[in-house]
Amino acid sequence: MKKAIFPGSFDPITNGHIDIIQRAIPLFDEIVIAIGVNSNKKYMFSLEERKSFIEKTFEGEAKVSVKTYEGLTVNFCERINASFILRGLRNPADFEFEKAIAHTNRSLSEIETVFLLTSTETSFISSSIVRDVIQNHGDYAHLVPKAVTDS
Ligand code: ADP
Repeated sequence: MKKAIFPGSFDPITNGHIDIIQRAIPLFDEIVIAIGVNSNKKYMFSLEERKSFIEKTFEGEAKVSVKTYEGLTVNFCERINASFILRGLRNPADFEFEKAIAHTNRSLSEIETVFLLTSTETSFISSSIVRDVIQNHGDYAHLVPKAVTDS
């Protein structure tokens, strides 16, 4: 059984994340969207809100579930028997950052990181830009799923 986790902050989930998840569904038997909890980080949306946005968006998609975790991503993978980490790549900066993390994770475990390149339509979207638009009262409906704009 091919089980992957898609780790991130999802503050909030965007159409970019959704593109990666939807394209990964045919590749895996199960995808756990894993919200990392970092007590030193300040979030715009609470953990409950971020989890609920994802659950509502993937309601009825049997292969996708949402969990939260603390600590090392590879330890979480081992706890839930996931062999793959799914990540999205938008640009060279993402690649450099992800490369170091994937190498580190490989040095700590057998878990493989699988990268998908973003779609051209969503490659410019980031949660931080969405937060900026929200804070400045701009229209962000085309950047996020309905569950986020409904909140
Ligand atoms: P992190 O806190 O790890 O940066 P994010 O929630 O921002 O978490 O991102 C989680 C994953 O989603 C990362 O692999 C990131 O590259 C990917 N991602 C973020 N935005 C997009 C996008 N617009 N298109 C594709 N992948 C994306």
